Amino acid sequence: MSKVTADYNILAATKYTVNGNKNGHSNGSPMDVEKIFGENTFGLDEMKNRLPKSVFKSIIATIEMGEPLDPTIADTVALAMKEWAVEKGATHFTHWFQPLTGSTAEKHDSFITPNKGGGAMARFSGKDLIQGEPDASSFPSGGLRATFEARGYTAWDPTSPAFIIENKRGSYLAIPTAFASWTGEALDHKTPLLRSMAALDEQARRVLKLFDVHDVSKVVATVGCEQEYFLVDEEYYYRRPDLMNCGRTLFGAKPPKGQQLDDHYFGTIPERVLSCMLDVEKELYRLGVPVKTRHNEVAPSQYEIAPIFEHANVAADHQQLLMLILQRIARKHGLVCLLHEKPFAGVNGSGKHNNWSMSTDTGHNLLEPGDNPHDNMQFLFFCAAVIRAVHKHQDLLRASVASAGNDHRLGANEAPPAIMSVFLGEQLEDVFTQLVRGAAKSSKQSGLLGLGVPVLPHLPRHAGDRNRTSPFAFTGNKFEFRAVGSQQTVSVPIVFLNVMVADALDEMATKLEGHLKGKGKQRKSLEEAVGAVLRATIKESHAVIFGGDNYSDAWHAEAKKRRLLNLKTTVDALGKVGSRKNIKMFEQFNVLTRSELKSRHEIWLEQYTMTVNIEAATTEHIASTMVLPAAAKYLAELTDTLIGCDSVGFRQPGLTQQARTLNAMTDKLQKAIRKLHKVNNDPWGDEADEQAAYMQSTVIPAMNAVRTAADELETVVSREHWPMPTYTEILFVK
Ligand code: ADP
Ligand code: MG
Repeated sequence: MSKVTADYNILAATKYTVNGNKNGHSNGSPMDVEKIFGENTFGLDEMKNRLPKSVFKSIIATIEMGEPLDPTIADTVALAMKEWAVEKGATHFTHWFQPLTGSTAEKHDSFITPNKGGGAMARFSGKDLIQGEPDASSFPSGGLRATFEARGYTAWDPTSPAFIIENKRGSYLAIPTAFASWTGEALDHKTPLLRSMAALDEQARRVLKLFDVHDVSKVVATVGCEQEYFLVDEEYYYRRPDLMNCGRTLFGAKPPKGQQLDDHYFGTIPERVLSCMLDVEKELYRLGVPVKTRHNEVAPSQYEIAPIFEHANVAADHQQLLMLILQRIARKHGLVCLLHEKPFAGVNGSGKHNNWSMSTDTGHNLLEPGDNPHDNMQFLFFCAAVIRAVHKHQDLLRASVASAGNDHRLGANEAPPAIMSVFLGEQLEDVFTQLVRGAAKSSKQSGLLGLGVPVLPHLPRHAGDRNRTSPFAFTGNKFEFRAVGSQQTVSVPIVFLNVMVADALDEMATKLEGHLKGKGKQRKSLEEAVGAVLRATIKESHAVIFGGDNYSDAWHAEAKKRRLLNLKTTVDALGKVGSRKNIKMFEQFNVLTRSELKSRHEIWLEQYTMTVNIEAATTEHIASTMVLPAAAKYLAELTDTLIGCDSVGFRQPGLTQQARTLNAMTDKLQKAIRKLHKVNNDPWGDEADEQAAYMQSTVIPAMNAVRTAADELETVVSREHWPMPTYTEILFVK
């Protein structure tokens, strides 16, 4: 090995320091979680301490019950928030929002305002708190904002606590906000999320009333996300332009050892990684993010972190924070956190399991099977609504996780296929199957529900059976949506899920009301009415229930028979977003207007096109300027050797063959590069959907051809000449 290569191999794992301490031992004492939890958030405790009672009461009504914010209290809250932030070392504040890029955005303003005497004073008014007006012209709007009117507004979301982002030289206060155009159109992911939660709340409460539950004033969607990620050495990262540009490797031959031995999964966490995780967790605790679980994942250098579930809007903000903190803290340990769905070919990619349920303000999880027949009936109703929602809106559920990155994962035997189905577990599936069979005629004898369903004491409270291949699985008291991509914002899948379920609940509640209203003999008891609605609903939607192996070919054939959608790629999936069914539903529940939906559709297509385009350009660049020269150098070396051998009469048939192979491979690479250059620079088409389709059908195959040729070369070119760290190095040096 040349000096350079050897140097970075060894240095990578040995030179990193944390706070100046070698080998990652931070000298801080073990954390006292109770003491530090939430210390960097302006949460309820802090508000209670600092706000007058009446103001606190008013803000609680907004946070917990969704009452409109009383603007007259804004100045008082702002003052308290500023004082708290300044005590914490903050010099600036920012409205923190989630533009349609899928990440977060912030523009910092100082607390300092000039005063009349020519000096300066710290100022932060209610108006500063409630509303901001960032220059929004460079955020994607999908045609929502006329270009001559590029103003956007941010509006404080009091339901998500403000927090401090620390820096030794001056911290700042981040205020979660929604982001809208001057005409009130949502330019972000938070606004529709809040709207979708309101829609779900309304429909769920409507159903509860029909079940004679009258003490519930609010139903909230709850979400807990399990985040998978890779940690790799910073040194390798900077030597890989593909990782830097695209977040994933565009080249890399399969390493001799990958994940075949399953020796990483749930294994002991490497020490350096553990100290990084501990620091990440500490920061997240201070920010009030309740992280709970950590472990090694399947692929080498892959890990997972999961918080405890929270209200969906807070969970979505916290998810963004979690990704931010993971990336930030990793750097302090000489590591880089890769959040891409498929950083490395040949080993597992990363997802983000999205656990979802609905909870009442009285503390009842609506997807928790009950202890008595009435509760069970209600549970089955809500559960059936989710099944109905997934069946009716498979297209949307699939589209909510569509991205260039996730295309590498879905259907690749490591993640669920692109076919959306629901796993219920044997017992619950059986309950619903019995329902459909209509055993209800034997109602009198059969006890509960009058549905031919035996009393259900054994409902899978904490499901023993798990099906890891299902995209959407019931796991005892919640559904787990497993197709979400690791780097994507969870807001989109949550919004879609909320509105889909609201739609199903609406449909079922209308039917239930119809049955309950009938006159005389027509009028059904609640049990009979629920039974009828459940039967009709499940009959319509049972095709989406599947408990078998989602990875198998048999399922693909079966799903086709059941007429389930199989939207394999982002382009296929996005094609369905703007259908009449979807526009109607989003408008009916006031979650997205037609143009808001259209704008998102357009932006997702553009993001797909741009992502592939950048990957293709990076592929070409690396292949032309790094891989091809390395191959040529080694070829020159071999041919020189052969000429030398020849001059002294040595015969070298093996080496000659090696040179011939190398020559052919180099030629193949060169041709593939030329083709890629051409297709990536040809016109892509006029409309966003044409462009995306072009990328998928033409650019991606050309890119793959370059990779194949380069990866073949990696297995023969001298290690000394190979210009990038290999998979073995990146994945196994820790
Ligand atoms: P696993 O899928 O690894 O078995 P767990 O059962 O530990 O995971 O839970 C995974 C996630 O589901 C956690 O974030 C947890 O907080 C979340 N979760 C648990 N209950 C609910 C709920 N009612 N609503 C939403 N998320 C929930
Ligand atoms: Mg899980």
